[in-house]
Order: sequence, then C-alpha cells, then structure tokens
Amino acid sequence: MASRRSSLGNGKSGPTTQIVLLGTGTPRPDPEQSGPATAILVNGTPYLVDFGPGVVRRAAAAYQKGIPGFGPGVVKLRTVFLTHLHADHTAGYPDLILTPWIMGRKEPLEVYGPKGLNDMTRHVLAAWKVDIENRVNGVDKLPAAGCGVNVHEITPGTIYKDQNVCVTAFRVRHGELKNSFGFRFETPDKTIVISGDTAPTETLIENCNRCHVLIHEAYSQKTYKEVSRRWQTYRRNYHTSSKELALLAARTKPELLIIYHRSNPGASITLPTSETALLEEIRGAYKGNVIVGHDLDVF
Ligand SMILES: [Zn+2]
Ligand SMILES: [Zn+2]
Repeated sequence: MASRRSSLGNGKSGPTTQIVLLGTGTPRPDPEQSGPATAILVNGTPYLVDFGPGVVRRAAAAYQKGIPGFGPGVVKLRTVFLTHLHADHTAGYPDLILTPWIMGRKEPLEVYGPKGLNDMTRHVLAAWKVDIENRVNGVDKLPAAGCGVNVHEITPGTIYKDQNVCVTAFRVRHGELKNSFGFRFETPDKTIVISGDTAPTETLIENCNRCHVLIHEAYSQKTYKEVSRRWQTYRRNYHTSSKELALLAARTKPELLIIYHRSNPGASITLPTSETALLEEIRGAYKGNVIVGHDLDVF
C-alpha cells in the first residue's frame, strides 16, 4: 500500500508510535474490561482518547508493564481527547484530573472534546472543591495549576497539532448525540483512526481510507435477533454490527483492524460478549488483518 508517512517525521528510523489499549469495555462493569480509553504514545509522549472508569489505574499498570511515557503516578498524561459525553467514556474524569495531580502533576490538563465538556469540567471541579482546597491550602501545598483543566470544545476538522501528532476530528453517528466524534491521528510513522461510538458512517470511511490502524467498536450480529425491537432500533442508530464493520473494513482496507467496545446492547447482562463469535462473524465477510483488543494490549 502507499505510504501514509506524514510530514511530521523526526528523521529517526524505527517506529515511534505505540498504541496502548487502556480500556476496551462498555457500560457493562466487566472487571476484565475498563471503560473506553486508548493511549497513543508518540516519541514517548502520551495522548489519550476517552477516560472511562479505570483509566488512571490502567495507565499505571501500563507504566509498570514497561511503558515509561505515562510517568510514575501517570503524571505525564496531559493531552486528552474525548469522543462524546456518555458516562462509559467519561466516568474516569475526576480520577484523571485529580489522581495524577496528587501524584505530582504540576501543569493543567488540556482536554479536547464536544460541546458540553466545559460544563462537565466545571461541575467535576466544583464537586471536588473541598478536596482541592485542602490539598492546595493544607500541609500538602499542591500547586493549584496541577488540577486545572484547559477545555477546548471542538468542531470537525484539525483540532490539535504539535511536533508529534496531528489530530483530526470527524462527526460520527451515535443516535441523538449529535456531538459525537471519531479521531484520526497522524504521527511520523502511523495513521490511526478511532471510531468512538458510532453506527456505520461515511465520515469514518473517508478518514480511515487505507489507514494503518482502525480501532472500531462492534456488536455481535448473532444476538441482534434475540433482543427486543426497541433494542434493535437502538443498535442500528447507535452502534455498528459485526457484519457492518466487515463491509466497512473491506472498503477502507486498514493494515490492522482492532475491535474494541464490543457489546451486545439489550442482551441479558449474563450473556457474555463472545469474542470468538464476533471474530468469526467479521472474518466471514472480511479477509484483512483483524483482532479483538484487550485491556493493556500494546501495538
Ligand atoms: Zn460507549
Ligand atoms: Zn456512547
């Protein structure tokens, strides 16, 4: 395939980009799958997409596993992108703001996300007012700037650029949540597209066109017929079936397709989301390289 190398190259040889899956789950509180959170590290600098529950502890686990870029106590995680405001993607927010600060982060977070993020941030900081005031004014004397958040509410287009990465946001199709985004990361050696939560959408296909890595959500087609009509409608409007993802991947031809946020909305809580069934369904209609992602996988 044609090289996707961008103009951001630093002249060094060898890979500079790593993907670390910090959370591959859904709202379901599965101990094996934290809430959605994906880190992309470029030249050792971490960039985070989404902050589902468990995000800080998973990042600490990745650090312990040998990914130094997060820093001890996750203090180096400073640049963050949010796909949409659903709780499974945001319930780790106070943890992300406060815990690395308590562990030593001195600078504010920079967070890029949909309209409404400003309000959410303000409310989180207000909710933890007593703790913040105590740590700033008490014996700890933590720097107030370290628990600050600079919020950047985004619209489609280029939303971030530095020496490591250029990030493009594009709108996706997630039911009534009009401000739902997917992201395209262009680094010196990789183009990575993250779907966020979405039903099949042309904007993703345009942005992923022969990208290196597509990280995409999916639900199993097998369980679709077993859920109520209301849940079938929900699935069609909010999420992507295995069959739809296979067709989408066949059109965009990523070098690697990673499935995350695998779900069976509307199905019984006791029904496990079968990894094998999902892979079989996709491989039935797509011959490219596809895997199911797990928490703390590194690519
Ligand atoms: Zn979700
Ligand atoms: Zn969602």
